[in-house]
Amino acid sequence: MKRVFSGVKPTGHLTLGNYLGAMRQWAAVDQHRADALFCVVDLHALTVHHDPARVRRLSRQTATLLLAAGLDPQLCTLFVQSHVDEHARLSYLLECVATDGEMRRMIQYKEKAARERERGGSVRLSLLTYPVLMAADILAYGTDEVPVGDDQAQHVELTRDLALRFNQRYGQTFVVPRATHPPVAARVMNLQEPTSKMGKSEDFGPGIVYLLDEPDVVRKKVMRAVTDSGREVVYDREGRPGVANLLEILAACTGGNPEELAVVYQSYGDLKKDTAEAVVEVLRPVQVRHQELCADPVYVEGVLREGAEKARAMARPVVDAAYRAIGL
Ligand code: ADP
Repeated sequence: MKRVFSGVKPTGHLTLGNYLGAMRQWAAVDQHRADALFCVVDLHALTVHHDPARVRRLSRQTATLLLAAGLDPQLCTLFVQSHVDEHARLSYLLECVATDGEMRRMIQYKEKAARERERGGSVRLSLLTYPVLMAADILAYGTDEVPVGDDQAQHVELTRDLALRFNQRYGQTFVVPRATHPPVAARVMNLQEPTSKMGKSEDFGPGIVYLLDEPDVVRKKVMRAVTDSGREVVYDREGRPGVANLLEILAACTGGNPEELAVVYQSYGDLKKDTAEAVVEVLRPVQVRHQELCADPVYVEGVLREGAEKARAMARPVVDAAYRAIGL
């Protein structure tokens, strides 16, 4: 059986982008077809300015939402990264095979570091080394496949490079993984700025649909989505990013195809109305289940405790082997 690993950072409230680009696939497909691990990657939340209490709260909330989205602890392993020491242990070894040049070339590093500097803050060293820790997350489990949105493609590519380099220098130790992406909505864009991705954000932006948004809030955000001055509904990611984004969201929610849907709609208004309703319907069961789970925090804690035990048992032999291989 294939081993699958993926993670979410507890850096904000989960969005429709996280759901369509990653979580939904994990629940509907990956946990059934593979030996799958899903991780709330809280160490990654420390790479930019953070509030300790908030990170702790968001870690629990993220895990609860992953369960609400359909992850089943009987089928997969759900845990919190910092509960398993092997991630940090392996990360250091991988820092000894990675180079500072390849870290500085990472697009997300360049974007996030520029944002930190714009805000007048300093850039934490961990922001630079973040992809190495992510590589450790993946390689510690002998992962074959990493289902992610396409914003993470470059980091998974780096993970492959590090695994290959380590194996070449120190002997066969790691499985070399590959990224997989959902067929549609691999990159959901911000409804107000359709050229940037719909990421978790501190500011509750009007262009971001959160998984826990009430139906009327979802409707308002989708109806106000920025399109363009055209009238005809066409699917053109480059020329008409706003409309293309709506078509992709609708397609992902209804199981359709964005090109075919473009032919069906005569106006942006109708497209928005149907997209809003489709999103509301997709989020409804997640929200209902989330309410139930919030009433049972002991259950969620138990899932995470057992998940960490299972994960530790899988990671330890791999990381121990890496320590031996590298000469320790
Ligand atoms: P974020 O970028 O929102 O902080 P994470 O880095 O925690 O999200 O990513 C969790 C998962 O969600 C990853 O697989 C990532 O590729 C996916 N993802 C995040 N944003 C989007 C988006 N806008 N569209 C599609 N997938 C996304």
